[in-house]
Amino acid sequence: MSLLVIGTVAFDAIETPFGKTDKIIGGAATYAGMSASFFKKGINLVSVVGEDFPAEGIEMMQNRGINTDGLQIKKGEKTFFWAGKYHEDMNSRDTLDTQLNVLSTFDPVIPDSYQDCEYLMLGNLMPSIQMKVLQRLNKRPKLVVMDTMNFWMEVAMDDLRQMIGMVDVLTINDAEARQLTGEYSLVKAARKVLAMGPRYLIIKKGEHGALLFHDDQVFFAPALPLEDVFDPTGAGDTFAGGFIGYLASVDDISFHAMKRGVIYGSAMASFCVEKFGLERVLELSEAQVDERVQQFVDLVQFDITLV
Ligand code: AMP
Repeated sequence: MSLLVIGTVAFDAIETPFGKTDKIIGGAATYAGMSASFFKKGINLVSVVGEDFPAEGIEMMQNRGINTDGLQIKKGEKTFFWAGKYHEDMNSRDTLDTQLNVLSTFDPVIPDSYQDCEYLMLGNLMPSIQMKVLQRLNKRPKLVVMDTMNFWMEVAMDDLRQMIGMVDVLTINDAEARQLTGEYSLVKAARKVLAMGPRYLIIKKGEHGALLFHDDQVFFAPALPLEDVFDPTGAGDTFAGGFIGYLASVDDISFHAMKRGVIYGSAMASFCVEKFGLERVLELSEAQVDERVQQFVDLVQFDITLV
C-alpha cells in the first residue's frame, strides 16, 4: 500500500524557554515522512526546496527509505522559512516569521511511479497546492488525511474550506478548530467540521492529548506525561505521520484501526518534543516506539465493574 506525503520541507528557527536554534531542518513533510517511515517503507515525498537546502537533509530522508524523486530543488531560490517562539507553557506559540520563498510558485509534479498511491498525507502547505496534488493523481487514494494551520485560515480560507470538503480525515489543533468554526466547545466545533465533509476529525490538544471524532462517536488518546518537553515543533506533523503510517502498514481504515493510529501518532509525537527539531526522531529505534506504545496502554488501562 503506497503512501504519498506532501507538505513543506523547511528551515526553522525555534525559540523555547529552553533554548534557541539557528536555521535547522524542519517542515511538515519532513516531520510527517520521518515519523511515518517507522511504520511504512518506501514513502513517496512531494515537496520543494531551494538551492540553499543541504544535501545531508535529503540524505537524512533517503536513509529512512523515503523516496525523494518528487522533491523539486529550485536553482537560485530559497527554501521555505518559518520562525516561531513558544510561550512558557509550551502549549502555545507565536509565529515570528513565515517566508514562503520557493513555496509561492510551487507547482507539484507527481512522478509516474507515485501514481499507485493508496494513502495520501496532505501535510501542512498552501491549500491550493494540496488540491493540485489530489487532482493530479489518476485515481483517488483510499484514504486522504489533511493537516493545516491557522496561517492558511488567515490567508486562504476559501481554498481551505474547499479542500476540507475533499478529504477523509482532517487533523487540526484545538485553537484551529475554534478559529475554523467560531465554536469554543470542541464537540460543537467537531460537529461543524464533520458537516464540511471529512468523515473523521482529529483535534490535537498538545500535552492534553488528542480527540478522534466520527459521526456521534469520540475517542480520546492522552499525551504521555513527560518529564521534559524541549521543543513542540513538528509534534503535529509527527503525529499525523505516525497515524497514517500505521494505517498504511496495516491497510485498514476502520474506526478501530484509526483509534490505534491515534495512539501510534501520539507515541511518535511524544518523542518529537523531547529534543529540538528532528533530533530525537533521528536517534529512535522501532523497539523504542513499541515500548512507548506499551506505556500508553499502561497509562489508560483499568478494570472496572459496574453494579
Ligand atoms: P507543527 O509544530 O506540527 O505545527 O509543525 C511545525 C512545522 O510546520 C515547522 O517545521 C514549519 O517549518 C512548518 N510550518 C510552519 N508554518 C507553516 C505553514 N504556514 N505552512 C506549512 N508549513 C509550515
